[in-house]
Amino acid sequence: MSRVFNFSAGPAMLPEAVLQQAQEEMLDWHGAGMSVMEMSHRGKEFMSIAEQAEADLRSLLNVPDNYKVLFLQGGASSQFAMIPMNLASGKRRVDYLNTGSWSKKAIAEAKRFADVNIAASTEDSKFTTTPAQSELQLSGDAAYVHYTPNETIQGVEFPYTPETGGVPLIADFSSTILSRPIDVSNYGIIYAGAQKNIGPAGLTLVIIREDLIGQAAEETPVMFQYATHNDNGSMYNTPPTYGWYLAGLVFKWLQDRGGLEAMAEVNQRKSAALYSAIDNSDFYANPVTPESRSWMNVPFTLANADLDGKFLEGASAEGLKTLKGHRSVGGMRASIYNAMPEEGVQALIDYMAEFERVNG
Ligand SMILES: *Cc1c(COP(=O)(O)O)cnc(C)c1O
Repeated sequence: MSRVFNFSAGPAMLPEAVLQQAQEEMLDWHGAGMSVMEMSHRGKEFMSIAEQAEADLRSLLNVPDNYKVLFLQGGASSQFAMIPMNLASGKRRVDYLNTGSWSKKAIAEAKRFADVNIAASTEDSKFTTTPAQSELQLSGDAAYVHYTPNETIQGVEFPYTPETGGVPLIADFSSTILSRPIDVSNYGIIYAGAQKNIGPAGLTLVIIREDLIGQAAEETPVMFQYATHNDNGSMYNTPPTYGWYLAGLVFKWLQDRGGLEAMAEVNQRKSAALYSAIDNSDFYANPVTPESRSWMNVPFTLANADLDGKFLEGASAEGLKTLKGHRSVGGMRASIYNAMPEEGVQALIDYMAEFERVNG
């Protein structure tokens, strides 16, 4: 067996130790005589898996007691609708920061349910930077402020947490959750699709402050109300049990590695090494202003785009996979989430240097 370094933006690499443990437990979980996939979500075995996963996530992120953790389905994209349906009932005014492709999608969906004010936009820069706090034109009376801390496609990450003057801050953390410590108490809602930095696709994590639950419009379908999932421990209907279990294994893996402070150090080192390889070359380029560069998604272009195909082919032959940039941006993108080992980043840097030597 030879595993590759997979730079996919999502679904992305999972820690090998987690996959091995899942393999060992596949047919018989802890003597239950069945796979986690075959268990009733209401049985005591799965309840113990679910509770442990939540407890471990809470300790990793230091989640305060007045926040609920929900294990849902529908992806981050469903949250684009659930948030305004639950918090902006009656077409209330809401503030959005437009900093890339995912913000744009969240905004388009919110417009169906709310009166959207674009409090800042970096579209004129082609989304190569983040707005400063002083540039945010917040409404003041908005139901919430929504932003995307890390734009997965453009590789742009906020170097600070926006200050909203008491208005709930809602954050799409899909591609940067668990990459470093955050102060959960700064947020009203944190949400993330699992397939980047948590676990397999199909699970969506929502961390929500208690007082924001129960405000949905009357006609909101039950499955789209946070109260439904909160009142039923995320088991109003069948939850994504296997994804929940694998996320739990990832949380344990993060704890074993020293928690989020330790992950932050590794992630900082990995991204710094890759950006410095790009910046120290005339052959590769990254357009993002240095202070807003993502630790997780590193887009870069080659001086001659005609060489893109050759670059990708050679990388693939070296076991460096899925480096093609998003179709809307072009070039390359290396996604280097928690599960990407430092050796993977170094192998990419070495390959880039060799490719430049031969083709530059
Ligand atoms: C991947 C991604 C999404 C979409 O997630 P789904 O789970 O596929 O709906 C939304 N926002 C960000 C920032 C993402 O990276």
